Amino acid sequence: MLRVHEIFYSLQGEARSSGRPSVFIRLTGCPLRCHWCDTAYAFSGGQLWSIEAILEKAASYSTRWVCVTGGEPLAQPECRPLLCHLLDAGYEVSLETSGALAIQGLDPRLSIVMDLKAPDSGEASRNLLTNVAHLKPTDQIKIVIASRADFDWACQQADTLDLFKRVDEVLISPVWQSIAPAELAQWVLDSQRPWRFQLQLHKILWNDTPGR
Ligand code: SF4
Repeated sequence: MLRVHEIFYSLQGEARSSGRPSVFIRLTGCPLRCHWCDTAYAFSGGQLWSIEAILEKAASYSTRWVCVTGGEPLAQPECRPLLCHLLDAGYEVSLETSGALAIQGLDPRLSIVMDLKAPDSGEASRNLLTNVAHLKPTDQIKIVIASRADFDWACQQADTLDLFKRVDEVLISPVWQSIAPAELAQWVLDSQRPWRFQLQLHKILWNDTPGR
């Protein structure tokens, strides 16, 4: 059984699959407390679901894209078998994870979107940097930026960890309503590095309404 906060159907707002109509399975709970967390409502609550019931709910929507998110989905051990069952059922599955828990041994069919937490999140010490070696080129790394200091840190980490060679896309995005997107966009251009700048589509469309 897994504790699930919500299962809903919406447009994927981030990363390579942005814009795809997808089923979102949001698992309850997270061991981190990022200062700018936009899903703190998922730290607790929700209901227990069996994997079979989750698959049945996902099948009620006509899409082949599923995103497992949180909270931190890997905080629940049953998340791993859930991912395998979704993949076996033929879905293209992405996993959004904080980067603080081990990703080693996850199903290679999975598309992982892994955060690196910048200092202004308050959780940079939780980055499990050994995870980087377990990413496939088709996985993605995401860094959320709240300040110029965060951006300078991100550039340093990208260079030190060779992130642009490890994965095809290293995503960078501003904390929602914290720094001006155009300012970060200019930093990206000035840095002469192959970031993929992104804005969160669902927030532009629906102003950060839970379940959208
Ligand atoms: S890891 Fe994600 S869910 Fe957890 S506190 Fe940070 S932003 Fe929120």
